[in-house]
Amino acid sequence: MATFNSDKAAEIHRHLHSHLPSDPALRVKALESLVVERGLVASETIDRWVEAYAEHIGPKRGARVVARSWLDAGFRARLLENAAEAIKEFGFEGSATGHLRAVENTSDTHNMVVCTLCSCYPFSVLGMSPAWYKSSAYRARAVREPRSVLSEFGVDLGPDIAVRVWDSTAELRYIVIPQRPEGTDGWDEDALAAIVTRNSMIGTDRDLKAEAV
Ligand code: FE
Repeated sequence: MATFNSDKAAEIHRHLHSHLPSDPALRVKALESLVVERGLVASETIDRWVEAYAEHIGPKRGARVVARSWLDAGFRARLLENAAEAIKEFGFEGSATGHLRAVENTSDTHNMVVCTLCSCYPFSVLGMSPAWYKSSAYRARAVREPRSVLSEFGVDLGPDIAVRVWDSTAELRYIVIPQRPEGTDGWDEDALAAIVTRNSMIGTDRDLKAEAV
């Protein structure tokens, strides 16, 4: 007689899901098909837009902003005061960062960003948002149990480190300024920017590695 094996069932469940696109992916595909079919936009335009945000804009722009904040105390102060204005020093502007706030990690504070309502994200500086950022699980759990979520990303915070979770809106988006790692004295802005990860600017990564890339 066949017996029920919960581990086996869970494995089959995971396997089935791994072959299905996530809900946001399906919705995007359906929307893309419709706008292309109705002649509202050419699929080449969509490809170019995606390439620009994935390859040229983000998260490299955000990494440069962070690197400069590590090197230039004046810029850091301007960034924390009004990030949307400060990033104009790089020529970075965009509707997604018309109102941008920078929040800094310190030895006793960790910042993490979410959009509980939908998926607001500062794509003018971080490029395309990752799929997990848009998932309902992240959006719900980031505010309910941020330490557990962080732990799943490999960030284990001691009880002495406070966690601040920032809920984005279409009007106000956030970028986390991670701490500059030890062992990077004398590095220039390009070298520093290269070690800044996208997740560290969302807050799901904390301790950056001082390894030249
Ligand atoms: Fe949103």
